[in-house]
Amino acid sequence: MQDTELTTIPQKMLNIVLFGPPGAGKGTQSQKLVDAFNLVHLSTGDIFRFNIKNNTELGQLAQSYMDKGNLVPDEVTINMLEAEVAKYPDAKGFIFDGFPRTTNQAVALDKYLESKGTSISLMLALQVDEEELIQRLLLRGKDSGRADDTDESIIRNRINVYNEQTAVAADYYNQQGKFHSIHGVGSIEEIFDRLSSVIVEKGR
Ligand code: AMP
Repeated sequence: MQDTELTTIPQKMLNIVLFGPPGAGKGTQSQKLVDAFNLVHLSTGDIFRFNIKNNTELGQLAQSYMDKGNLVPDEVTINMLEAEVAKYPDAKGFIFDGFPRTTNQAVALDKYLESKGTSISLMLALQVDEEELIQRLLLRGKDSGRADDTDESIIRNRINVYNEQTAVAADYYNQQGKFHSIHGVGSIEEIFDRLSSVIVEKGR
């Protein structure tokens, strides 16, 4: 086979949902996984914060929900996410961080990826107990400048929202055989190694 032919064979994309409650370490681990596996990182929380900072219409809408620790409505979030994915037609894969947060969003993501000829490869779910999450978020709030990380009642509401609305999305991926639980306590390197092993073993 000619070299030119080799380069035209499409590689299967590696699309990862990095899942877990607020403070589980999704953002930190995403940064490392992006470098290790050459992926595009899409964090819906970061995109909303960027829009708030730039005072866009989307930012203004999202802020009222984010300030309380509630979810931004599905329709708004899904449209935004799809527009972001579309910006990277040459991506080798994506890390979805903070999305999907409802089963509705998971179904919409599947449909959208299918329309692009691809799919989710894995959901990696970081497990961290609740008191540890609260301590981590309060610590992060001291220098992150994130209002939703400084008030303990808002932090608790975010964790409740996760338990009541988001955790079920894991069932959706479990039914597809894509769900993997990862112990989320330890050093950044230890957790990264756990995530990487599953990706190398199951991701392709
Ligand atoms: P995060 O940075 O992932 O902790 O998200 C911060 C906030 O952004 C959340 O508390 C929600 O208000 C909002 N948000 C982020 N991602 C989503 C999503 N997939 N669906 C709805 N709201 C979201």
